[in-house]
Amino acid sequence: MAVEPDAERSAAQELLDAGAHDPLDTMRHSAAHVMAAAVLDLFPGAKLGIGPAIRDGFYYDFDLPRALTPADLEAIEAKMGEQVSADLPFERTELERDAALAQLAAEGQDYKVEIVRELPDDDAQVISFYRHGTFNDLCRGPHVPSTGRLGPFKLLSSAGAYWRGDEHRPMLQRIYGTVWESADDLDRYLWRMEEAKKRDHRRLGRDLDLFTFHPESPAAPFWHPKGMALYRALEAWSLEVRRDGGFAEVRAPTLVRKELWEQSGHWDLYQDNMFVLDDYDHQSGMKPMNCPEDILIYKTRSRSYRDLPLRFADYSVLMRKELTGALSGMFRVRQLVQDDSHVFCREDQIAAEIDLALSLVQRQYAPFGFQPTFKLATRPEKRLGSDEFWDMAEGRLRDAVEANGVPYTLDPGGAAFYAPKIDVFIEDALGREWQLATIQLDYQLPQRFDLEYRAADGGFERPVMIHYAIFGSFERFIGILTEHYAGAFPLWLAPVQVVVVPIADRHIEYAGRVRDALAAVGLRAEVDDRSERMQAKLRDAQEQKIPVMVVVGDRDQEAGAVSPRLRTGEAAQGVPLDAFVADLRGRSESRELWPYADTGDGLGADTGAA
Ligand SMILES: [Zn+2]
Ligand SMILES: [Zn+2]
Repeated sequence: MAVEPDAERSAAQELLDAGAHDPLDTMRHSAAHVMAAAVLDLFPGAKLGIGPAIRDGFYYDFDLPRALTPADLEAIEAKMGEQVSADLPFERTELERDAALAQLAAEGQDYKVEIVRELPDDDAQVISFYRHGTFNDLCRGPHVPSTGRLGPFKLLSSAGAYWRGDEHRPMLQRIYGTVWESADDLDRYLWRMEEAKKRDHRRLGRDLDLFTFHPESPAAPFWHPKGMALYRALEAWSLEVRRDGGFAEVRAPTLVRKELWEQSGHWDLYQDNMFVLDDYDHQSGMKPMNCPEDILIYKTRSRSYRDLPLRFADYSVLMRKELTGALSGMFRVRQLVQDDSHVFCREDQIAAEIDLALSLVQRQYAPFGFQPTFKLATRPEKRLGSDEFWDMAEGRLRDAVEANGVPYTLDPGGAAFYAPKIDVFIEDALGREWQLATIQLDYQLPQRFDLEYRAADGGFERPVMIHYAIFGSFERFIGILTEHYAGAFPLWLAPVQVVVVPIADRHIEYAGRVRDALAAVGLRAEVDDRSERMQAKLRDAQEQKIPVMVVVGDRDQEAGAVSPRLRTGEAAQGVPLDAFVADLRGRSESRELWPYADTGDGLGADTGAA
């Protein structure tokens, strides 16, 4: 029996799969073949791992006698160019399994042998190869017709990668490349990569005095005063959205005895990610999640059907035992705070509660200009609960999403171990996709904790829980925002919203009055009274990406006016102070995406560049 392309496939078959049949993916995967041929040319005897198309490019893994240098990548790129000029056709051949194994073994391609060995031993199974020039590679295809069809390409980097991602297997060298349909597309992509480096939130966090990381507490940010101002602005917005959604804030302790984690199931399934410590004669864990403790709050009173839905927002500190080796900054931290929400509701309230969650997600993202997309994540391999339970829970979530009219896709196997969920994604200014919010439906924890409420008929029923965080963690969201805006935050988020620059010392007193007028309506303003020249002060403010600079001189002082200039370049003179303060207050309180420079390159966010 032949293997259906879309039937359930083994890992080995996944490795053979050249990827989707998207034309760009086909070209990217074909470029991986061309790169492998070039590497074999330069390093005869190199062993090949796998070479798939990935988002924006491709890679191939090689077992090589020495580490690659940038000069090697240039040489490989040149060899690839020769193949493109030669316009060599890709030709498919098929071999029986044994013949394929014999051929690969004779070529010394041990990793390819391993891949074929893992395919089902099946008489009808033919193994396909694709040849171009003298290079022949185990592959399912498809490919472009010939090497001349590759668009403009560039090799980007090389990095170590364990075979099969397994640290007990050999370390191979992975070469990343990118290929596009046009030179414009390639240039734009390379520019985006360059821009991403410039926007690195760890660098901007330090340069803009927002936050830093220190080896004394690995993988946990130290928030500076300006970072805290940003944090609090986001927190206030998130709490406002919760409050309007009918949530009440709760907070439960960080250090929690083992018995609670045993009852919740975390002790069995999540213990590797928990900090466990001895609390005198008890074992305890630092909480990685708020759910079990919020359940204890639910259980402190008898609840009736009239009390539901009950909505708790818990913004407690969470501790997760992440590896500290990875230099991911805010993207992988060990101490974090989520805008965590727990809803306890009746079954007949699920649709309305999911609907509420989806609308809160959309509202909370709106000021940033993000258009969220939704994925329904279904049962993973490692899970609690019966198949009947998962059928029912997944069905309810799907019904609710469909009733809400939000477009969504499926993420099979992507759910948490105790419940299906809806994952929410946004795309940033550089076109990178980030998963932020998660909305989880949960029948498991209410059962494990024997939650109940008194129903209208006087009997007891079990509530359902819905868990969600919308920003996800504040840490990660701030990392993403910092890169999205390149540190040039809109007015409502900017740590310093206005800097007041006196032209001469005799204007310092008036500058202070301007600052006080702004502060009186809750705006964050500073006076720059250093003995620097005015132009130097404005340059510094521009570098710090402060949205509004206000210059005050004799004429402003006499008229009770200001001369504001924006980070984006616009300037005005002699604006009455009252009108100026009212205008900024309105923009800040309505969380306007302002000041905003349309840079005309589709990036949207104001980079704050001079
Ligand atoms: Zn291929
Ligand atoms: Zn939860």
